[in-house]
Amino acid sequence: MSRLTTELLIEPNIVRENIAQLKNKINNSSNFMAIIKSDAYGHILPNIVNDIDDLVDGYGVVRLEEAIELRKISNKKILLMQGVYSNEDFKEATENSLDLVIHNSYQFEIIKENNYFQNLWFKINTGMNRLGFDEEEFMDIYNSYLTDKKFILMSHLSASNVPEDPSNKIQFDKYENLHKQLHSDVSKSIANTGCILNFPEKSYDWVRVGIGIFGGYIGNEKLKTAMTLRSPIINIRNIKKGEKVGYDGRAVAMKDMKIATVYMGYADGLPNHIKDGTVVKINNQDARVFGKVSMDVTTIDVSNINDCKIEDWCEFFSPNHSINNLASSNGLISYDLMIRIKSRVKRYYKNI
Ligand SMILES: *Cc1c(COP(=O)(O)O)cnc(C)c1O
Repeated sequence: MSRLTTELLIEPNIVRENIAQLKNKINNSSNFMAIIKSDAYGHILPNIVNDIDDLVDGYGVVRLEEAIELRKISNKKILLMQGVYSNEDFKEATENSLDLVIHNSYQFEIIKENNYFQNLWFKINTGMNRLGFDEEEFMDIYNSYLTDKKFILMSHLSASNVPEDPSNKIQFDKYENLHKQLHSDVSKSIANTGCILNFPEKSYDWVRVGIGIFGGYIGNEKLKTAMTLRSPIINIRNIKKGEKVGYDGRAVAMKDMKIATVYMGYADGLPNHIKDGTVVKINNQDARVFGKVSMDVTTIDVSNINDCKIEDWCEFFSPNHSINNLASSNGLISYDLMIRIKSRVKRYYKNI
């Protein structure tokens, strides 16, 4: 008998297969940047880099600390997507040969002071209204400083996963109109995962792909979830029609039932508000959450599963049970589910 514990299993061979799928969608001339912010969307950044370095042209991260760690293990292009906000950080970033995103004139001042015009990505706001220059402000800077400089013009879509959303066309139009006003050596990058899949013609010079390589993009069955989140059954009981399960008696038995309790709760990162009826897999069969998620355990209706017992695994998601099932049936996004699993859950990284 072993000590029972909840596990998160990471399979890099699936990440590799997803990258191959996504590369098939883009132009041969487009470069492939793997976005691995937030510890590679929870997949353990250094291990992932080691296992995909031959497949990609570069990486994107958000934190300087992450970029510096990454530079120790890869010679590929590394884009620091939030750029720098001080001379100290600028110095550290350039010493590590990082590409920098410039979002605003505050950041541009640092670049200007240092007279540094290599490997810059100028981000323009085309409708997200989060980061990036507005057109007029950017054109002023361009006309004064950039007419003879090579750089990448970048923007980010707010609804690329919903192709019919009118914001996509508005953002593309703004982006392309601005690009037309620049000299011919300015490169382009706007595509994230949703853009590659829904608007592959916009892959341009660099695609920046995150969620797709980890298999969390909704609506593409070929991309597989690279993580398995599984928890062992630690108790099984029979209850009578009319009895209630868990806090607040949310789940009421409409018939006699069999209930399994599994060893994972919101302290492990499973959201507290997961709904009754959410499908999980036990011994390759569908079972359903029944009762509120507690701090340490979750209750599952296993009335239809004859052969389950203590120590059997309950899978919340896996390559064969997409993380999108758990996300979409609970008003969550796969991005959030991937990165919220706590350190109390034992992580296993499968060697290729
Ligand atoms: C996170 C991020 C991406 C990747 O988006 P996905 O939807 O995960 O593919 C691309 N560009 C920027 C600027 C990002 O912050």
